[in-house]
Amino acid sequence: MSKIAFLGLGAMGSRMAANLVKAGHAVTVWNRSPGPVAGLVDQGAASAPTPRAAADGAEFVIAMVADDRASDAVWLNAETGALAGLKAGALAVECSTVSPDWAVRLAAAVTAKGGAFVEAPVVGSLPQAQSGQLIILAGGEDAAFASARPVLAPLASAVHHLGPVGRGAVLKLAVNTLLASQLAVWAEMLGFLGKTGLEPGQALDIMATLPVASPAAANYARQMLAGDFEVRFPIDLMAKDLRYATAKADAAHADTPLADATLATLNRAREDGFGAQNVSALIKLYTGR
Ligand code: NAP
Repeated sequence: MSKIAFLGLGAMGSRMAANLVKAGHAVTVWNRSPGPVAGLVDQGAASAPTPRAAADGAEFVIAMVADDRASDAVWLNAETGALAGLKAGALAVECSTVSPDWAVRLAAAVTAKGGAFVEAPVVGSLPQAQSGQLIILAGGEDAAFASARPVLAPLASAVHHLGPVGRGAVLKLAVNTLLASQLAVWAEMLGFLGKTGLEPGQALDIMATLPVASPAAANYARQMLAGDFEVRFPIDLMAKDLRYATAKADAAHADTPLADATLATLNRAREDGFGAQNVSALIKLYTGR
C-alpha cells in the first residue's frame, strides 16, 4: 500500500482515484471545486483542502486536470501548490494531457525540489478510466518510471515508457490528433450523406463495418447520429489538444495541414457555442441541430 495524493476529480480523475482506492492505496484527494470530493470520501479516500496539504507526506502525487494552466495551478502555486508540500524523494506524476514543453518545465521544477517526475498521459475515455483499462504513454527517467509503474498498474491495461519527459505528451497529442481528424471527417460525411439523399443511419451501419473506419471514431459517429451529446470529452478539451499538437509541430518545423484544418473545425464549433459539449456535437456544424 502506498500513500498517494490525487489532484483533480473531473470525469477522468474521479474514476482513476477510485481505482487507486479500490487497489488498497491510502489516497488523499483534492479538487478545485468541492462537488466531487464527497463521492471519493464515501469510497474510502481522505480529502485535503489544498494540493499542498494533499501532497504533504505522500509518496506519490498524481494530477489529472484540464490543461497546462490547471497543471501550473495545482503543482506550482507558491502558497497552495503540491510542489510546496512534496517531500524529498516523492514521485510526482502528471496524467493530464499537457503540452510537451510544459511537461518538461514541470519536471525541472519537481527535480529541483528533490522529487522525481513522470508524465503519464492516458489514452481511453470514461469507460476505460472506470474499468482501469487506460493506455498510459509515459515519459521520464528509467528509475522514476520503475517506481511509478506499480501505482499506475490499477489504472491501465498497458503502460508504455517512451523515453524522457515530453515524449509521452507528444505521442498523446498525436493520438488525439488522429482521433479528432477522424471525428471531424465523420461529422462532415454524415452531413454530406444526408444532403445527398442517402439515409445516414444505413450508410453508417455499412461504413462502420469497413476496415477504413476505426472502431473508436465509428462509435462517436453513432453518438452523432443518435443525437447523444452527453459530455464525456468536450470539444474545448479536444481543441486544447490540437492547439498543443499544432504548436509543437510548428516548433519542430513539422508540416501538419490536416491537424491545422481539424483545429479550425473545432474552433468553429467553439465559436458556434458548442465548446462545452461532447465531441459528438461536431455534427451540429453540418445539421444545424
Ligand atoms: P474535466 O471533467 O473537465 O475535469 C477537469 C478537471 O480539471 C476538474 O477537476 C477541474 O476542477 C480541474 N481544473 C480545471 N481548471 C483548473 C484550474 N485552473 N485549477 C485547478 N483545477 C482545475 O476533464 P477530464 O475529462 O477529467 O479530463 C482531464 C484531463 O484528461 C484533460 O487533460 C483531458 O484532456 C484528459 N483526457 C480526457 C479524456 C476524456 O475522455 N474525457 C480522455 C483522455 C484524457 P473543477 O472540478 O473545479 O472544475
